[in-house]
Amino acid sequence: MLNFARAAAAVGSTPATLEKTRVLAAYLRGLDDDDLRRAAVFMSGRAFSPSQRRTLGLGWSTVSKAVSSLSGRDEDELGSIFRKHSDLGDWAGEALDGRTQPEPVSLQEVDETLEAIRTARGKAKEAPLASLLQRLDPEAARFFIKIISGELRIGLSEGLVEAAIADAFEVPITQVKRVHLITGDIGETALRCKHKQFDTTTVTLFQPVRFMLASPVETAAEAFERMGAGSVWTEEKYDGVRCQLHRQGDRVELFSRDLKETTSAFPELTENAPSLGHDVLFDGEVLAHRDGRVLRFFELQRRLGRKKVSTELREEVPVVLVVFDLLWLDGRPLLDEALETRRRLMEGLGLEAPFLLARLEVATNPDHLDRIFAETRERGNEGLMVKDPLSPYTPGRRGLAWLKLKRPLATLDVVVTAVEWGHGKRKGVLSDYTFAVMDTSAGRLVNVGKAYTGLTDAEIATMTKRFLEITTEDHGHVRLVKPEVVLEVAFDSIQHSTRHKSGYALRFPRIVRIRDDKPVGEIDTRDRVAELYERYFGEKTVPALSEVAET
Ligand code: AMP
Repeated sequence: MLNFARAAAAVGSTPATLEKTRVLAAYLRGLDDDDLRRAAVFMSGRAFSPSQRRTLGLGWSTVSKAVSSLSGRDEDELGSIFRKHSDLGDWAGEALDGRTQPEPVSLQEVDETLEAIRTARGKAKEAPLASLLQRLDPEAARFFIKIISGELRIGLSEGLVEAAIADAFEVPITQVKRVHLITGDIGETALRCKHKQFDTTTVTLFQPVRFMLASPVETAAEAFERMGAGSVWTEEKYDGVRCQLHRQGDRVELFSRDLKETTSAFPELTENAPSLGHDVLFDGEVLAHRDGRVLRFFELQRRLGRKKVSTELREEVPVVLVVFDLLWLDGRPLLDEALETRRRLMEGLGLEAPFLLARLEVATNPDHLDRIFAETRERGNEGLMVKDPLSPYTPGRRGLAWLKLKRPLATLDVVVTAVEWGHGKRKGVLSDYTFAVMDTSAGRLVNVGKAYTGLTDAEIATMTKRFLEITTEDHGHVRLVKPEVVLEVAFDSIQHSTRHKSGYALRFPRIVRIRDDKPVGEIDTRDRVAELYERYFGEKTVPALSEVAET
């Protein structure tokens, strides 16, 4: 541990990135396999690799109690040492100077102590912590505390640890990054690079694989151009939450988009996965789905972030997994296979609810793609995924093999009812506009959102003058204005809102143009907003999920 601390201190003492990399590489090169794995994780400022999905569960108070009592110093003295550093590790290092009985401590012992702290409950966490600190040199204690506080503060990012691994084992940095993307574990990455195990198709079940991502495009022509293919595959863009399912026999685990384990959140999936009859790693989207209809995202949200799901909630908001990719099948890794091969294998699984296969349609030219897009919209989906059938699965990559075709849902003509002074660059101008639609049944304007973007600085300056002239009430930061400035706004979605009188809020609204040509009497209505809401964000049928449409 002392060697680790010295290496970390040396890294911290130079501001030069190249020098940091060199120092760290020299240290990593001298380690055996087990220590290499540990040191790489510790150097990235973590007690455990994220793929281990473990947390220490150690509060500041336990750490400071252990250090305080070992140091034998009084509160004033400890306080003044802390003020000098404002860092728990540096504070502990100085507070413990001369107060411990240092002896050699291996990284393995550090690892074991971290595990003992993790598994102990409440107050019992202090004992293993104190007994290790007791044996550490103050410099080692300093870095040990930094590791458990999750921050080394030696100017070392995960990227630099990757660079050091590249340098230590003479491996191209791009290769290191690729291995890291797949393993999601910097310790495992270091080891594989040391032994030149670059078989990147290796997937380990129950270690989450980073999700493949899509790049946005706005037109069908652009999709074809960027994909550079004769025909493309399209799938609905389901509006749920991304999910990876690992299944081997009776063991099933789920992971979310940020690679957190979410197994207990969707018992429908974990209970039914054993009967799939195959060991699989699925990539897909969880949707709330009842009686053949996809429920609103709002309903699905009720199921998210829960450790336990009550029977009532399961019945009210049942979920399904729409499977759109297969990364492993019965011992065979499939990352490097073409999507069309992976799809064929998925189709051969004979999926049954709660597992559904994503709907696939082939588009042969931009017009065709436009038609499919329009149909998807008719079914109430916001967009379409466009995929290259020959592409491998590239974890963590936002490449051109997957595109998402999205366009603003619609634009609405609205009128500005209130304006606010801007911040920062927009200081001194009225730049934030609250806008309304007409509630025809009540015969009044009702607010439905607030827009900050879309106008040029020159337009904002002109509008500021105009709004100052038509202010009806000046509330300092906010001014109510005579409702006469009509705007056309684009937006991505609509939500229910308690903040706005209309009961709805447009999300991410952008001003498309100022509609001086349009009288206020002709702006859009609350009914139109409600209609769009029901159409796109209400419950909907996603027909024949498992069907493969013929071209
Ligand atoms: P975005 O969140 O806008 O970057 O869009 C990408 C997300 O769309 C993915 O992370 C998935 O959660 C989701 N998605 C929905 N349907 C699909 C599909 N058929 N293929 C891939 N991703 C999909």
